[in-house]
Amino acid sequence: EGNIVFDNVTFTYDNRQTALNGISFTAPAGKSVALVGPSGSGKSTIMRLLFRFYDPTTGSISIDGQNIRNVSQSSLRHNVGVVPQDCVLFNDTIMYNLQYGDINASKEDVYEAAKAAQIHEKIISFPDGYETKVGERGLRLSTGEKQRVAIGRTILKNPPIILLDEATSSLDTLTERQIQQALANVTKDRTTVVVAHRLSTIINADLILVIKDGRVAESGTHEELLKQG
Ligand code: ADP
Ligand code: ADP
Repeated sequence: EGNIVFDNVTFTYDNRQTALNGISFTAPAGKSVALVGPSGSGKSTIMRLLFRFYDPTTGSISIDGQNIRNVSQSSLRHNVGVVPQDCVLFNDTIMYNLQYGDINASKEDVYEAAKAAQIHEKIISFPDGYETKVGERGLRLSTGEKQRVAIGRTILKNPPIILLDEATSSLDTLTERQIQQALANVTKDRTTVVVAHRLSTIINADLILVIKDGRVAESGTHEELLKQG
């Protein structure tokens, strides 16, 4: 579950800016796939098409053999978890922020998600059970920590596909790596993870797609790409 296929997809923005020039690739179910390439190469556009913010101009995108045009929005939302770049948190506890939107999650589940996203150490609880709220009593979260909360929230929902667009993020490389590692640790082979990134320093992806001018210029594992030079 979570097999993504782009079949000869083109996409042109309203202002006639062609972003994708006939792109084809498979993101195998349960694998982590990194889209790397220079700014403007089309990585974010691929992400936007995947959760149907836009539809392709030509070509098709399918998930598990089904064209996503024929999938309802609610079903797509259920299957594709997007980690927002700029995570706006509620002025409430980290646990509340993690659990938001998932009323069925138990406290244990939420804490497991916090651990997986490596944000659990920021949870400050008192013996009476009171948990410090974000922004209160010195509980400040950096941008990277906020994004970890967003990852925890996505992990808790456990969708077959997770999208993480760091192509335009302002996070430093170390933080990005830690976040990707956190995601990889929990999702293992259960979840298809697609990460967009400016740099080619992604080490832990199963498959790397080098995007240039809206096309896949090269693809392979990190080792294979190094051999090709
Ligand atoms: P990347 O994520 O690799 O930086 P994008 O997918 O954002 O690349 O951009 C691909 C191309 O599409 C670029 O030429 C960019 O200028 C253009 N583009 C991106 N977003 C928009 C938009 N909202 N409207 C018009 N053109 C856009
Ligand atoms: P990063 O470099 O990852 O952005 P920062 O060191 O800039 O991390 O962290 C600042 C963050 O802390 C900001 O996102 C801001 O929302 C939050 N912050 C700053 N001051 C306060 C405060 N007095 N109370 C609560 N949150 C704060």
